[in-house]
Parts: sequence; structure tokens; C-alpha cells
Amino acid sequence: MPEIAPDDRCLTLVIAAFDEAEALPRLLPRITTALDAAQGEGLQARALFVDDGSRDGTWALLQACARDDSRVALLRLSRNFGKEAALTAGLDRVERGAALILDADGQDPPELWPQFVAKWREGFDDIYGMRVARPGEGVFKRASAHGFYRLIGLLSRTPVPRDAGDFRLLSPRALAALRSLRERHRFMKGLFGWIGYNRIPIPYERGPRVAGRSKFNVWRLWNFALEGITGFSTAPLRLATYLGFATAALAFGYGGWVIAKALLWGDPVAGWPSLMAVILFLGGVQLMALGTIGEYLGRMYEESKQRPLYLIDTWQPANALSSVRHSGMADGQEV
Ligand code: UDP
Ligand code: MG
Repeated sequence: MPEIAPDDRCLTLVIAAFDEAEALPRLLPRITTALDAAQGEGLQARALFVDDGSRDGTWALLQACARDDSRVALLRLSRNFGKEAALTAGLDRVERGAALILDADGQDPPELWPQFVAKWREGFDDIYGMRVARPGEGVFKRASAHGFYRLIGLLSRTPVPRDAGDFRLLSPRALAALRSLRERHRFMKGLFGWIGYNRIPIPYERGPRVAGRSKFNVWRLWNFALEGITGFSTAPLRLATYLGFATAALAFGYGGWVIAKALLWGDPVAGWPSLMAVILFLGGVQLMALGTIGEYLGRMYEESKQRPLYLIDTWQPANALSSVRHSGMADGQEV
């Protein structure tokens, strides 16, 4: 993996897009304006779009944009790998300077780049956008997000700031650190928190997406939460142990009581309801503990396969006249 040159004149906007043909036409001019402005300030500004296996016109739109603007680099993955992998692919390709991560749906305003760069100049490494308003998000999404951040704050020692997403600027050394984390199950907010360094929030108003639909439904959010908790805490495993101890203590107590009762008053073979209750209770507790272990085991299995995080279909660097179809080698580092 190439070392990132500690070049504080380069800034790359990294944008993962999956089926964003509706939103991109509104975002692309804003990106161009931001690049122009950054260039005006003496920065070497680039944009790197990652097409995460889109099935609509996203790739064609991006290619048109790259044709018109030599500062735009494109990366296309071989299929949809999910936002985390797509972002990782993009960040792996930032060779110099800092990276500013944005969503393709216009929810993260590219116009804010000067604030991010100013903090970077002050010596911060992880400058993250903190949402002060979340219009367009329902009560359920807000409440579940609140509950999730409280839970993960309790369970994990890795700081995961709430109301922060992937919208952030990473300094060259934060970027290098992030690139050294190659786990398959990538809970990005946790990974950003894990690397540490100097962090600072920048409050911003997160508007609704400009067009198109959110890719994250309730089920995906639930899985996202599971990813976060299992990736950054083993507390559920410990909980299973304590639950086991508590159940065993209860069972021993109850067993003693049953034996004493039989010795004192004989046993007229009653107690089907209590027997049933005990069996069901123990069965339930055991299955819950097994399921918890299974969640971790499954993730270990995935990690142990050591598959690449993503595969590249096409890589088109900035200033390129033609794109390179990829050979299919892991992580695409050899191009
Ligand atoms: N995205 C992606 N791959 C996916 C799903 C989403 O690259 O499998 C991108 C998407 O194009 C957008 C960003 O991730 O740029 C955030 O997605 P979305 O707006 O759907 O999520 P939300 O903002 O609702 O959490
Ligand atoms: Mg969005």
C-alpha cells in the first residue's frame, strides 16, 4: 500500500454513490464549484467518486462529469459492496493529502469544505460534521439513533460520537491509520473513533436528501447497529455468561426447594406447569446465549476467509484520458 505523502496542499473529496442518478445532477455542480473554490485558495483539489455497483445511470453521469472535469477520478466496484466498503475503496485511492468524505445525495454540503480545511490547518486530524438538525428524518429514526448511541457508549470503550456520520475530513496520518484497519465487518463510525488523534466536531445542518430514496431501511439500520455493537464490544458475550450464572443460581435454588418439598411432604406427581415453565425458560436462555455466540462466531468466520473488502471493475484516475478495466486482483492495489 503506498504511503500517503504528508502533503497539506492536496484535498480529495471522496463520494460513494449507489443508484444516485436522481441526486447526482444536483450534487455535481456543487462539487465542481467547491473544487474551483478550493483551487482558488491554492489547494490541489480533486473529487473521487466510487460507484458502488449502481444499476441506474449513475456510472454514465459520473463518466460525463469526469470527461468535462479533469479533476474528477472514478472508481467502479464490481458489484454493490455497501457504503462502508465503497468508502474504503475510495479512501484507499487517495494518494496525497487529506480526504473529505461526502454523501452523494447532497445531505453533506460540499460548501463547508473551508471550515474543515481550516481545522485541518490548525492541526486536527479527524474533523467530523455533527448534525444539529435532522429534518426529513422521522421520530422513529431519531429515537432509534439516540438509543443506539447510548447503548454503544455503555458497551464499548471506543468513542463513537453521536450525531456524527461519515461526513468528515481525515488528515493524511488519520487516513493512513484508517487504511491499516482491514477488517471485513466495517462499522466506520467506530473505526474513525478507534484511530483517535485530534478530533473536533463541526456543527452543521443536515438537510434531507435532494432526490432519490434512502438505501437504509429499518432492517439495514438494525444490522448496522448489530455491526457496531459486535464490532466494538464483547459485552453481549459477557452478558450471556452472567445470564447463565443467574439462571443456574435460580435453577439450583428451585431444585433445592423441589427436593426439600418432596422429602418433607412426599411427591404426589404434580407440577406439570412448573416443569414446563422451567424447561421453556432454560431453553430460551440457552438459545439466546447460543445466538449471541453465533453472532460473534459468524463474524469470525467472515474475517477468517480473508477475502478482499471489495473488487474494482474500473479505475479512472483524475487527468486520465481513458479508464482502466481492472484485472480483478484483490483490493486493486497493484494498478
Ligand atoms: N451508498 C453506497 N452503497 C450502498 C448504500 C449507500 O455507496 O450500498 C451511498 C449512497 O449513494 C449515499 C450514501 O451512501 O451517497 C448514504 O446513503 P443514503 O443516503 O441512502 O443513507 P442515509 O443518508 O439515508 O443514511
Ligand atoms: Mg442520505
